[in-house]
Amino acid sequence: MKKYWDEKTESMPEADLRTLQLKYLKQTVARVYEKVPFYRIKFDEYGVAPEDIQSLEDISRLPFTIKSDLRENYPFGLFSIPKQDCIRIHASSGTTGKPITGGYTRNDMLQWGELMARTLWAAGVRPSDICQNAYNMGLFTGGMGFLAGAETLGATVVPSGSGQTERQIILIKDFGTTVIFSTPSYALTIAEKASELGINLRDSSLRVGVFGAEPWSEEMRREIEERLGIKAMESYGLTEMGGPGVAFGCSEKSGLHINEDHYIAEIIDPVTEEPLPMGEEGELVLTSIQREAMPLIRYRVRDLTRLRRESCGCGRTLLKMERVAARSDDMLIVNGVNLFPSQIESILLEIPEVSPQYVIIVSKKGYLDRLAIDVEARREIYALGDAKLKEIEAKIQSRIKGTIGLSARVRIVPYKVIERSEGKAKRVIDQRP
Ligand code: ADP
Ligand code: ZN
Repeated sequence: MKKYWDEKTESMPEADLRTLQLKYLKQTVARVYEKVPFYRIKFDEYGVAPEDIQSLEDISRLPFTIKSDLRENYPFGLFSIPKQDCIRIHASSGTTGKPITGGYTRNDMLQWGELMARTLWAAGVRPSDICQNAYNMGLFTGGMGFLAGAETLGATVVPSGSGQTERQIILIKDFGTTVIFSTPSYALTIAEKASELGINLRDSSLRVGVFGAEPWSEEMRREIEERLGIKAMESYGLTEMGGPGVAFGCSEKSGLHINEDHYIAEIIDPVTEEPLPMGEEGELVLTSIQREAMPLIRYRVRDLTRLRRESCGCGRTLLKMERVAARSDDMLIVNGVNLFPSQIESILLEIPEVSPQYVIIVSKKGYLDRLAIDVEARREIYALGDAKLKEIEAKIQSRIKGTIGLSARVRIVPYKVIERSEGKAKRVIDQRP
């Protein structure tokens, strides 16, 4: 059995990767300049022409593309192909506003399948596996991307889609599902439903899960592994770049490998927009260099991470990116303190009596922001009485104060009060005017 899905690319020496990237970057820049009026106007304004790109470093001469550019050119304004060559259109989930679109040519579809096959192979999926695809299987890129990958790899796919949670559990049992694809939060919903039905999924045929589409903490990964009795692996991507398949986790579980033959990654300071040196944390910027229908130049992803060029224990040479703990859009500023939901998640999950079901509520009283956390306890804890629940609330409160420096009102709410996720979990309610 082969070690990687695409041995040649995944273990390519850095110098060869760079040569390949430069070749594709030049082609893509020429293509968008010629075919997409938006880019031609923008490049002209910036005084940069395709011939100016002579090295990979020259990428910093190109203008950024931002989310509002996609919204303003909605739905097809950034396509670089005639409409009849486009065989698929997807749209983002719209987590942060009006959804944006992405188009695919036949080649884009084939490549998507390849990139996702790399992801799945690295997660340990093999042709003998039965994969239950519990991502939403519609406009959202997650479901269809995983489907393409599993088909390319030659595994068996059960396109269960998200929702109908009880049915998911029946399918796992009846079909002998070995691999599950879903968001991390939906995996927990499934685990919870199973335990309500008196079924222990640790005893099931499941052995691997491939999770993505939303930030999750390391504590959450352990929780999922524990409750489902599986290895929890990771996939990363976004509609603007074609969906999942941009980066993937390997056996080392220490960050994600970026598919560098398809994407050039940079990190910039989100405020000054200056490129940051390797290893520093900042905003991820991606250029898709092999896409035909809708390549994007220096797209500001609004996810925060850092890049590392290192020899990975798995042997892959592809650049590594730290797992995305937060989208910059999710950053809350509470009385001047920056706060990410994942920080709260990590604190909560370090306390054994607390369940991973939580929501962060920010409101305003006078000039001051007020932070509140509603969280559930583990089911069996409720029976221990109110004094116990109060004690847990106080513990969470003091840990938040100690680590983040903010005073929060913490409430242990009754079991199942927090809405269960079937896709991307909604962790923040910002009630400020
Ligand atoms: P939307 O922006 O509407 O959620 P998408 O469905 O295209 O649209 O989601 C892409 C976003 O999902 C990414 O930019 C990132 O914020 C998040 N995401 C995807 N995969 C991961 C992952 N493995 N870890 C953290 N965040 C992820
Ligand atoms: Zn690796």
